[in-house]
Amino acid sequence: MTFQAPKGTFDWMPPRSERALAVRDALAGPVRRAGYGYIETPAFEDTGLFSRGVGESTDIVTKEMYTFLDKGGRSITLRPEGTASVMRAVIEHGLPGGPLPVKLWYSGSYYRYERAQKGRYRHFSQVGAEVIGAEDPALDAELIVLAMDGYAALGLTGVRLLLNSLGCAQCRPAYRSALQDFLRGLDLDEQTRQRIEINPLRVLDDKRPEVQAQLAGAPLVTDHLCAACKAYHEEVRALLTGSGVAFEDDPRLVRGLDYYTRTTFEFLHDGLGAQSAVGGGGRYDGLSEMIGGPPLPSVGWALGVDRTVLAMEAEGLFEAVPTTVEVFGVPLGEEARRVIFGLVADLRRAGISADMAFGGRGVKGAMKAADRSGARFALILGDRDLASGAVQLKELSTAEQTAVPLAEVVDTLKGKLS
Ligand code: ATP
Ligand code: MG
Repeated sequence: MTFQAPKGTFDWMPPRSERALAVRDALAGPVRRAGYGYIETPAFEDTGLFSRGVGESTDIVTKEMYTFLDKGGRSITLRPEGTASVMRAVIEHGLPGGPLPVKLWYSGSYYRYERAQKGRYRHFSQVGAEVIGAEDPALDAELIVLAMDGYAALGLTGVRLLLNSLGCAQCRPAYRSALQDFLRGLDLDEQTRQRIEINPLRVLDDKRPEVQAQLAGAPLVTDHLCAACKAYHEEVRALLTGSGVAFEDDPRLVRGLDYYTRTTFEFLHDGLGAQSAVGGGGRYDGLSEMIGGPPLPSVGWALGVDRTVLAMEAEGLFEAVPTTVEVFGVPLGEEARRVIFGLVADLRRAGISADMAFGGRGVKGAMKAADRSGARFALILGDRDLASGAVQLKELSTAEQTAVPLAEVVDTLKGKLS
C-alpha cells in the first residue's frame, strides 16, 4: 500500500522548495527591520477561539475548519488563520498591561477545508504581522508599506493594492441597514438571504457572477462613513501616497473575516487567475473584546506564501536555478575519503557551503555528482595528491585545475568565493 499527500495539499520538494523559503524570508524582512517581534503560537486552538474570533457567519467557520475532539473530549480546531491566536496569546500573557502597541510577526501553516484548486489549498503558509493596542492611521499605513516592500524585495512588479474603509461602530450600523434593505430586494438563494440578516457586508464578497451582477447598484460603505472614519481614511491614503505606494480605492472591498473595522486592504496579482489575492488585512478594533479581552484596537495582515511563489513564477523571477553548494569533494580511495570528509567539515565551519560524494562511488559517479550539485568548485583527492599533501581544485565550468596544499584549501576557497 502506498500513500499520497491528502487532497488539497502538496509537498514542497527541492529545488522548488527553496522558493518557499526565499519568499518567507523576504516577506518577513521588512517587518523584522521595523522592530516587530517574532511570535509562534500552536497549530491548533480551542474551537471557540475561531468561532468567536473569526466569526460565526464566515466561510471559514461555517465550512472550512478542521475540527475534531481530542482524546480528552475537547473540541480542537487546526488554525485557519493567525490573528485570533496572536490576540489570544497577547491577552493571555498580559501584554495589554504593558507598553502599547505590541508589534508582532509570525509565519506558519494554516488549514482550511476548501475546494482545492491552483492557488487554493487545504494546507498553506502565511507570513503575518499584527500591531495590537493602538489606533493610529500611521500604523495602518506602516503595515501596508512594509508588505509592499516585501513584495518589492522579491522583484515582483505586478502586485496591486486595493484599499477601503469599512467604518466603525458609529457609522457601520446605518450602512448595514441600508445595505440590508437593498439586498433584501434581490433574487438570492436561501443561504445568502440568511447571510443578509447575519452579516450583509459578506454578501458583497460573494464570488458568483450571478450574485455580483445584481450588486451593481448596492450602497457603498464609503458614502456612509462618519467624519472620524473619513478623516482616518484620508490620513491613511495621504501617508501611503507620501511613501510612494500606489493604491486603488475599492469601495466594495470587504474581507472574509467578521472582525474588520475601518481600514481594509488586499494585495492582488493578475498573473494568478481566479485566486488573485496574494495577501490581505485590515483593522480589527473589535476582536479582543469578542474573545473576552480588553478593548484593543489593532491592525494586521497575512500574506500568502504559496500564492506569492506562484506570482513570482508567473513573472519569471525564478529562472536562475539556485546553486545548492559552492564546493563538492571527490575522494578517490579510503584514505582520501577521510581527508575530504574533514576538509568539507572545515569549509562548512568557515561559512562555505560544501558537500561530497558519498556511498563509495567510482571517479565517474563522483564527478557526475559534483556536476549535478551545481557547485562551482570540485576538490579532487587521489593517492598521488595525498602523498604530496595537496588537493586538486577544479573550477567546474572551465575545467581549469590547480593543486592547492591541504592546509591552504579553506583560505584559497574563501578568497575565490568572496
Ligand atoms: P480568498 O478570498 O482568496 O479566499 P481570504 O480572504 O480567505 O482569501 P485571508 O484569510 O485574508 O484570505 O488570507 C490571507 C492570504 O492567505 C490570502 O490573500 C492568500 O494569499 C492566502 N490564502 C488564503 N487562503 C488560502 C488557501 N486556501 N490556499 C492558499 N493560500 C491561501
Ligand atoms: Mg478564503
